[in-house]
Order: sequence, then C-alpha cells, then structure tokens
Amino acid sequence: MNYRHIFHAGNFADVFKHLLLARALEYFKQKDKPYFVLDTHGGIGYYDLQGDEAIRTAEAEQGIVRFAEQAANEPLARHYLKIVDSLNASEDNLRYYPGSPVITSEFLRDNDRLVVCELHKEDAETLKQTPLGKNKQVQILAPVDGYQAMRAQLPPRQKRGLVLIDPPFENTSEFDDVVSALKHGLKRWQSGSFAVWYPIKDELKTAAFHRDVAAVTGMPKTLIIELNIRTNDERKGLHGCGFLWVNPPFGVVQDSEQLLPFLCKILAQDKGANFHSRWLVSE
Ligand code: SAM
Repeated sequence: MNYRHIFHAGNFADVFKHLLLARALEYFKQKDKPYFVLDTHGGIGYYDLQGDEAIRTAEAEQGIVRFAEQAANEPLARHYLKIVDSLNASEDNLRYYPGSPVITSEFLRDNDRLVVCELHKEDAETLKQTPLGKNKQVQILAPVDGYQAMRAQLPPRQKRGLVLIDPPFENTSEFDDVVSALKHGLKRWQSGSFAVWYPIKDELKTAAFHRDVAAVTGMPKTLIIELNIRTNDERKGLHGCGFLWVNPPFGVVQDSEQLLPFLCKILAQDKGANFHSRWLVSE
C-alpha cells in the first residue's frame, strides 16, 4: 500500500468528488428520516496543503485553489466551499482541506450515522486522532478493509443512505474488486445509493469497467458522470475521473448537468477538457 492521499488532496478529482458528495448529502438531509453513510476508503480526514507532501505535487493549485477563487457565487457550490472555508477561518491562504469523512460529518443530524474505514495503518491512526474520532455519530473502523466492512455494515438500520467507494486504484485488480463489492453490496441493500469514484487513465479499461458493472444481474439504475481536465498525456498524470453512481439521488442527476460544464470551465487545463453524464443502466 503505497498510496497516500495527502499527495493529491484538493486536486481537481477531489473537487469533483467532494462537490457532488456534498450535493448528495444535501438531498439526503431534505427528508426527516435518518440516513446512513459508509465511507469505505476514508483517508486521513484533514489535509495540510502546506505540508511537504502536498507542496511537492502542488495539485491543489489546479484544484480547490482555482475552484474557491472562481466558484464563490455558484449556489450549488456554497455548502462545499463553506466547509472548506470553515477550516481556514484564521488563515490568509487556503491551507487545510477536508476529506470525504469530514465533509460528510458536516451534514449529519442527530440520528444520522457515518461509518468510515481506512486500511493503511498509519493513516488509520491519523484519522482516529482527528475530531472525527470523538464525534458520537461517526464510527471509525481502522485499520479495516472497506470492502469487508460493506459485508458487515449493510443493510443499515436507517434503510436509506449512501456508500462512497473511493479506492486508490494502485492494484490492477481494483476495478474487479469494485464490481464484486457492488454485486455483494446490492444483494444486501438493493435500494442503497452507491457512488464509486474512479480515475480515467485508459479509456478501454474504463469501458470494460462500465460493461462489467452493467452485466451484474439486477443492477438498479446507474449514472456515469465524467470530467476530463485535459488531453490524455501519461507524462502529466491523471487527466480525468468519474463517478459510477448506482441509485443516485434525483437531485444529483439534475445538479450534475449544471455542475459539469461549470467544473470543466474552471478546472480545464487545455482544449482537450470535456465532460459528460449518461445512464449506464436506466430504469
Ligand atoms: N475518500 C477520501 C477522501 O475523499 O478524502 C480519499 C481516499 S484515498 C483516494 C483512498 C484511501 O483508501 C487511502 O487512504 C488508502 O490508504 C485507503 N485504502 C486502500 N485500500 C483500502 C481498503 N481495502 N479498505 C479501506 N481503505 C483502503
């Protein structure tokens, strides 16, 4: 396990992921009934963008730094940016960035619940030491394999909610692991919303992943949302990413249509930037 999210925190992919995550949680909150979130690959929660690792890649400069400067007036980004701002209230620059469990925790009401998993031993310890470790609505399972936790945690008592699956994709088997996890997760919780973030490195691999998911028997409606910020050039690192979203909240379907062109305009690095959303499996 070499992947450490601190090298990538706040990059374009985090902005894409966390903005849509925040929109989804906003919709879960609109109903009184409590909801449940399982974050299978939680990371360390809080990221110092002025730390050595983040400075070395400076990925946040082309991500949250750009986005925060240009998206302040976008109503659909307000809550997400407010959470980022709240960590930096006394800082001149944007220094601290919230990971997915921190963002989710900001949406929890008294009866809502978040379970976060992290397998990397050191990162697991770091996550436990954050304020999330003392939050009564948050349960941190670490070091624990998020895929295993899906078996133990689903279906949740709350009956509605989201599973966020955000793996590092450092193993060649990761796409297959996700397909298998979705298959078993849906057997346990057919009405659950499952959001899988994935990198776009090789279009053929992405297409195979989509095909494998669509072939899972009884697959509920599934949305694909993708953003490419530049022309594919391996030397420059990741150029695109997507969400494969099973049972997406209706509002997210609508919001993604509005947010994708907006994200693409702000985060684009060359003329090869593009975006799209489509149903992989429709009702
Ligand atoms: N979701 C986080 C966020 O948005 O802030 C970032 C997660 S990062 C992309 C992936 C994380 O998964 C890493 O911290 C890595 O150590 C952890 N990880 C890798 N394999 C795992 C597994 N099988 N179960 C749980 N965590 C795992």
